[in-house]
Amino acid sequence: MFYWINSNQNIKNFNKHSAIDLIRFATTGISRTDLAEQMGLTRAAVTLIVNDLLENGVILEAESRAIPNGRPPVVLEINPKRGLVAAVDMGATHVNIALSDFSAKIIEETSLPFDIKQGPQICLTEVKRILHELLDRYGVGISQIMAVGVGVPGPVIKDAGMVMSPPIMPGWDGYPIRKTLEKEWGCPVSLNNDAELGALGEWAYGAGRGEKNLAFIKVGSGIGAGLIINQQIYGGTTGSAGEIGHITIDENGPLCTCGNHGCMEAFAGGNAIALQARKLVESGKRTLLSNAPSKDLTAQDVADCARRGDLPSQEIIMRAGTFIGIAIAGLVNLFNPSAVIIGGGVAQAGDLLTTPIRQAVREHSLRASEQSVHITTAMLGQRSSLIGATVQAVSIAIHDATERKAPVSKEQILTELKQAAPTE
Ligand SMILES: [Zn+2]
Repeated sequence: MFYWINSNQNIKNFNKHSAIDLIRFATTGISRTDLAEQMGLTRAAVTLIVNDLLENGVILEAESRAIPNGRPPVVLEINPKRGLVAAVDMGATHVNIALSDFSAKIIEETSLPFDIKQGPQICLTEVKRILHELLDRYGVGISQIMAVGVGVPGPVIKDAGMVMSPPIMPGWDGYPIRKTLEKEWGCPVSLNNDAELGALGEWAYGAGRGEKNLAFIKVGSGIGAGLIINQQIYGGTTGSAGEIGHITIDENGPLCTCGNHGCMEAFAGGNAIALQARKLVESGKRTLLSNAPSKDLTAQDVADCARRGDLPSQEIIMRAGTFIGIAIAGLVNLFNPSAVIIGGGVAQAGDLLTTPIRQAVREHSLRASEQSVHITTAMLGQRSSLIGATVQAVSIAIHDATERKAPVSKEQILTELKQAAPTE
């Protein structure tokens, strides 16, 4: 069972929170009878919980849309109008920001070019500007936002709400990201690695629905993995698990952004793919890639040209796929997931990338694990991490609302947040 526990709150009513999670992740609502069965409780016990949640406005009763004929049964759903949340997915070159209701349905969103290398001050000011633009467009103020989920392309130290020595985020090391944003926005903020959020997004609403154990591999400028184990994000001891891009493939290989040589990312990440494309064009070989100036080439261009049938581009993508597949084979051997989902910008190359990945996994992992794993591309496309950040924000906001008898003021939440913050 996935759910978020606010560390400062004494969870008196575990069942209430379990019920909320069963309701929010049910595809078309859930009946009281099904809820009782799944929770192993009596109908009477469930009625008490449900009445409490109905009274507090977190859920509502609706007619099921799942049955085409006859009188539709009444099901329980999240009340989408109970509140608003925001999600911010910062990538190396793009930022995606969305506003959503409590049912995690996105109501406003935007995606803009972004340069994470400019450091926290410039980047977070830009995020603030874009978020306010979205809020204006929807006609609400920042005070309406109950929680924000934030994703970054680096290893997150969860308790501290910051990143540590992030290879593709120079200038962000040790910067108090979560604390800065909570102060600025006056609501709880969660900070996660973007691949971790991609795993959560695909698990909740995408290609990983219903999977117990899955890995999401984000192939962007860098390469990271997000792990869901027993339906919960697995972050490791401090929160930095899943750095699959920095598995050494060849210790004499090319220099990686992390300072080591021959990491998988240095062979197959978006930056490495773009570098190979530039070298190819400069070598004078016939390729569609030479239509653009070689210094501007990106991994996205290589994926586009590959899809349009350009053989040299296809070779670059397929070689990257083989390296990624070798690393995934190791992950499959270690962790025996039922699904591996490939996402991020480079995954837009589709079968050209996944075919060599599947082949490498077949060749390099043990049959016992290989037979049970399903390798597929992200169903949410480039929005996996943004949706995951939304799920995180809704988790915080909804479980917070569940603890309360009635809606409370933002000031009260902020005061509680300050009291709960670890002393420095
Ligand atoms: Zn590395």
